[in-house]
Amino acid sequence: MDFDVLIIGGGAAGMSCALVLGSAVKKPFAADKRIGIIMHQRSSALDGALFNNVLGIAPGTTGNELLERGKEQLRTLYPHVVQIDKEKVSEVRKKGSGFEVVTNKNMYSCGIVVVAVGPSNLFNIEGLKQYVEAHPNLPAAKQRIQLRNVNHLVDDNLYVAGVLAGWRSQFAMAAGSGAHVATDILTLWNDGNPAMVHDSVPKG
Ligand SMILES: Cc1cc2nc3c(=O)[nH]c(=O)nc-3n(C[C@H](O)[C@H](O)[C@H](O)COP(=O)(O)OP(=O)(O)OC[C@H]3O[C@@H](n4cnc5c(N)ncnc54)[C@H](O)[C@@H]3O)c2cc1C
Repeated sequence: MDFDVLIIGGGAAGMSCALVLGSAVKKPFAADKRIGIIMHQRSSALDGALFNNVLGIAPGTTGNELLERGKEQLRTLYPHVVQIDKEKVSEVRKKGSGFEVVTNKNMYSCGIVVVAVGPSNLFNIEGLKQYVEAHPNLPAAKQRIQLRNVNHLVDDNLYVAGVLAGWRSQFAMAAGSGAHVATDILTLWNDGNPAMVHDSVPKG
């Protein structure tokens, strides 16, 4: 198997999920896990956005800056997370208890998939279309979609994160959704014991 978990989409939810999973590298239950992210960013809602209302992000920061900085933060702090550039996913197919993820260039086998590709009604990933339904929390006129899920879980070992999970489109909500999915996966790897990753300032 190429990856224990493969995240699809390099926007707010996908990169947040990758950062939290990557940050668990010192936990014994996560240390040997292979984590990958298909870092496609060409159709991110962050492209063209300007942020003044997100805690922790300096007012005036552009979405394009966040796209670049997110990749750099992941590369610098958690280099074991494999970033796959210049590939777009066309199909996700079940293979045993895991999946094969097909892109325009390659095929990857993995145990868990996180789909974080945004709510566009142009959604075109074969193998996932049966989960598509109207987005419940965005204006109907926009014709956005979600993947049917219960608490981010679409099917066994298949998660959805971000606006595609049914959340309204706010950066903090999409990022929080990605982080939530990451902790669900860490909890799974930790034999069901709730898992989180916190760094703290050294005392003294
Ligand atoms: C103009 C604009 C201004 C905004 N301003 C604000 C604001 O001021 N405050 C705020 O909180 N929020 C704002 N937002 C909303 C915020 O940007 C989104 O809520 C957030 O980016 C959603 O994150 P996401 O991860 O769900 O989707 P995205 O960030 O869109 O990420 C989805 C990713 O999936 C990738 N992808 C798509 N298809 C595939 C595929 N087949 N294979 C692989 N990858 C794929 C895309 O390239 C993209 O990188 C704004 C949005 C826009 C459009």
